[in-house]
Amino acid sequence: MTIRIPHRVASIIVDDARAQVPNEACGLIAGDGKTIQSAIPLSNVASSKGSSFSFEPNEQLGALKSLDAENLVWMGVYHSHPNSAAIPSTADLEGASDHGLLQLIVSLKKSKPELQLWRVGASGVTPLELIFDTQVDAGLDETALSQGQCAAIVTAAIISVILLLAISFTLLPPAPVITPLP
Ligand SMILES: [Zn+2]
Repeated sequence: MTIRIPHRVASIIVDDARAQVPNEACGLIAGDGKTIQSAIPLSNVASSKGSSFSFEPNEQLGALKSLDAENLVWMGVYHSHPNSAAIPSTADLEGASDHGLLQLIVSLKKSKPELQLWRVGASGVTPLELIFDTQVDAGLDETALSQGQCAAIVTAAIISVILLLAISFTLLPPAPVITPLP
């Protein structure tokens, strides 16, 4: 099973995770069941926020109502691991109930945030493929190059070759003076 997430939504989650350091960030993820179209950050009210999370109940209720109003399906929850890998902890496994919700974990352990999606159920923990959908967000596409960008890269390459040649010629030693033999 593959779930898609636009960069726009992934950014909301990563920004929240960074803002809550050293505590864990947490919130809801929602969409159409296949694409995570929305992430709603919630307050972490756990007693040990650095290593676990717990939603503020009223905020959670309000978030679920707003999802309903937007016709979005509640797909699961996200939370962050400020110092550990994006793998469910023992507390995460104990806290997860078996009603088909997805668990999105963002790890800030490395300089580049890592997002991993899990399904935690009675049968165990299963990693799910998460695809960063660039096509949903026009203008935020980081992988494909537009024609303009391609032209700019080719032009820059040609200019560098010309400059390199020009520099090499200036560095050549002067031509030897040929004196005619007597
Ligand atoms: Zn966790």
